[in-house]
Amino acid sequence: MRHIAIIGSGPAGYYTAEAAQKQWGDEVRVDVFDRLPVPYGLIRTGVAPDHQSIKAVSNRYEKTALSDNVGFVGNVSVGSDVTIAELQGLYDAVVLATGAPHDRPLGLPGETLGNVFGSAAFVGWYNGHPQFADLAPDLSGETAVVIGMGNVALDVARILAKTREEFAGSDIVAHALDALERSNIRRVVILGRRGPHQIMMTPKELGELGHLQRAAPRVDPADLPEIGEDALLEPGLRKSVNHIRSFAAIPESHRADMALEVEFDFFAAPKALLGERMVEAVEVERTTVEAGRAVGTGETYTIPASLVVACIGYQTSPIEGVPFDERAGRFANDEGRILPGLYCVGWARRGPSGTIGTNRPDGFGVIEKIAEDIGGGSGKQGRGGFDRLAAERSLDVVTFRDWKKIEEAETRAAREGAPREKFVDVAEMIKARGG
Ligand SMILES: Cc1cc2nc3c(=O)[nH]c(=O)nc-3n(C[C@H](O)[C@H](O)[C@H](O)COP(=O)(O)OP(=O)(O)OC[C@H]3O[C@@H](n4cnc5c(N)ncnc54)[C@H](O)[C@@H]3O)c2cc1C
Repeated sequence: MRHIAIIGSGPAGYYTAEAAQKQWGDEVRVDVFDRLPVPYGLIRTGVAPDHQSIKAVSNRYEKTALSDNVGFVGNVSVGSDVTIAELQGLYDAVVLATGAPHDRPLGLPGETLGNVFGSAAFVGWYNGHPQFADLAPDLSGETAVVIGMGNVALDVARILAKTREEFAGSDIVAHALDALERSNIRRVVILGRRGPHQIMMTPKELGELGHLQRAAPRVDPADLPEIGEDALLEPGLRKSVNHIRSFAAIPESHRADMALEVEFDFFAAPKALLGERMVEAVEVERTTVEAGRAVGTGETYTIPASLVVACIGYQTSPIEGVPFDERAGRFANDEGRILPGLYCVGWARRGPSGTIGTNRPDGFGVIEKIAEDIGGGSGKQGRGGFDRLAAERSLDVVTFRDWKKIEEAETRAAREGAPREKFVDVAEMIKARGG
């Protein structure tokens, strides 16, 4: 028998568990650990609450989780409740699937001013991550600046722009829904250092922005490249650029009917966040793009801003004793191998890029490596040994059956039309599991 511990129950964790089952059938025992009492990582706390069809991928992970030889070990933080060395003593392979939960710093003057957030925090707030549920962003001002030209920036802009009605059927948490309903934000500026040809936004997400109830997108036609140059783009990006072009063609008369505007400010590099205690403005330098890179022109201007959300990427949390690549912000690894018996997958291996599906080949790839390395297993104790350790330490382990009870309670508490009302507090989650 082989014993495998997977640390992190997001997509990378569950695809790896699925791959282990495919590889060894009944000849493997997999435990999926998570520091939260609830599974699925960013599927629950990252993917936008109004994108329920994407979140439904968790049904696939549930299938894996319900297999007899796969366990969920929730509410256990690896690195503090239990060390990597201890797990390595109990399991033939330990796979870090811990994602990249920290915001990369902007590295700009003023980034510690009030009402400046990274997207991990802001998205965590509207998605009910216990760590960020108390964020309480101040939405009383008129202009929000969202920094970044990827899908996360689009998610944040769309969430700020939607009406309460447009959240019907979503699982946005009640505290965020209420705060957004009271919001005074009337202008959302998406700031990007480069131009329309360098965006990392996908067509579906851009398309949604053109169909909001009370908001219209704005693109300055002067920012558009020559239309003939679009032919050189790969097809997905070309579609995205078509959306940008269609936004530039929206007549002012249409925008005049809208309460809110989502403005794309291309060729605009943030230089500093200005304000006394709270952010009041963003100082921006105009850029040009040379050989794909943004180059400052020296021309600066300021955008008044009462809220700033930086969507510029994430980094993995280091764990004691695990080699870390500081520059890349993830574990140091060679195609998933970190040290003998220690591996990584998903965002913890590659950094924050790709879609949910990108994590699947990652999981299958790491299991191939593990199969080469561990043979038939070496008689380690696996879950039995961990349970003894957890009892000695009085760890309150949440099992998958416990999670199903938490999930039932969330479903029961859902407002009309919503799939669930998430618990945003770990103690509440544990309480909902019952005795
Ligand atoms: C805001 C946002 C929106 C997104 N929207 C989409 C989308 O619409 N479509 C799409 O395809 N992709 C989307 N993605 C990307 C997708 O979410 C990621 O590709 C995917 O979640 C990465 O999987 P992962 O398993 O590596 O990490 P994660 O999903 O982050 O899972 C990591 C897990 O590890 C746990 N963990 C961390 N540290 C520890 C520890 N020390 N001990 C125990 N457990 C730990 C965490 O609690 C978490 O459950 C989005 C990402 C973000 C940030």
